[in-house]
Amino acid sequence: MMKIFGHQNPDTDTITSAIVMADLQNALGNPSTAYRLGELNKETAFALDYFKVDTPELLTTVDDQDTVILVDHNEFAQSVAGIEKATPYMVVDHHRVAGFSSSEPLFFRIEPVGCTATILYRMYLENNIEIKPEIAGLMASAIVSDSLLFKSPTCTAFDREVCLKLAQIANIEIETYGLDLLKAGTDLSDLSVDQMLTIDAKVFTMNGISARIAQINTVDIEGVMTRQPDIETEMNNAIAAESLDLFMFVITDIMNSNSQAIVLGDRIDLVEKAFDTTLEQHAAYLPGVVSRKKQIVPPLEKASVS
Ligand code: MN
Ligand code: MN
Repeated sequence: MMKIFGHQNPDTDTITSAIVMADLQNALGNPSTAYRLGELNKETAFALDYFKVDTPELLTTVDDQDTVILVDHNEFAQSVAGIEKATPYMVVDHHRVAGFSSSEPLFFRIEPVGCTATILYRMYLENNIEIKPEIAGLMASAIVSDSLLFKSPTCTAFDREVCLKLAQIANIEIETYGLDLLKAGTDLSDLSVDQMLTIDAKVFTMNGISARIAQINTVDIEGVMTRQPDIETEMNNAIAAESLDLFMFVITDIMNSNSQAIVLGDRIDLVEKAFDTTLEQHAAYLPGVVSRKKQIVPPLEKASVS
């Protein structure tokens, strides 16, 4: 039985792509099970509930007995504990390639598209496997989530085209459903500060610098900023506990496509350099910035070189 999972602190693409990949592999005769590496966020829970699909089981570790498929990530630092011992059968992802290695050849598919679901769509076509309505609904949800309803600069024309086709199969009106889905993810009312900082957090190693970049979606940046003192306390705790050089917390307004960042650590200079800005009270406004992958990690990486 092959184990399929996405990254830690799972988002909608990571969870649904694990489910979708398991559906595809099972259809191809490779017995597979989808797993999650953490709690579902509210957006993902909304999608699974809407399409009446069960939540995958939690996976905390793998070992040398496991054959695995990684979706929506490839960096071991973002994967399950023990990943370096498991046998990777396949990777399907749309992120930079870093911190991955294997002792045997494998299927390794990375495409510079906006969403893992877009690549999976291609794989259904290539293998001539029919996409069931609930599977199409999950894939459309993933594209809406990763592209912020086609507004992110990571979204390609092909992502949009695929999403519209999937919406038809799933029998949803994409603008209406998509907005409902994104709004479900912006309900931060009962989240602790710690949860806000981990719900979508990733750690990146950039030229020896360890940077944690956490992001949340909201329709009310000011509302989140009222909690800045508590947020900074938790960020400083994480910096000490995880020996981080940089912690960047990005609060993204999904309606207006802007972000506010709170930045702490010894290397805040990288953020000032990358975005040509000066932090004020540990914060910076980043107009037009919504994508960590395309608009935050690359300039930070560049700034870390010199
Ligand atoms: Mn993801
Ligand atoms: Mn993704």
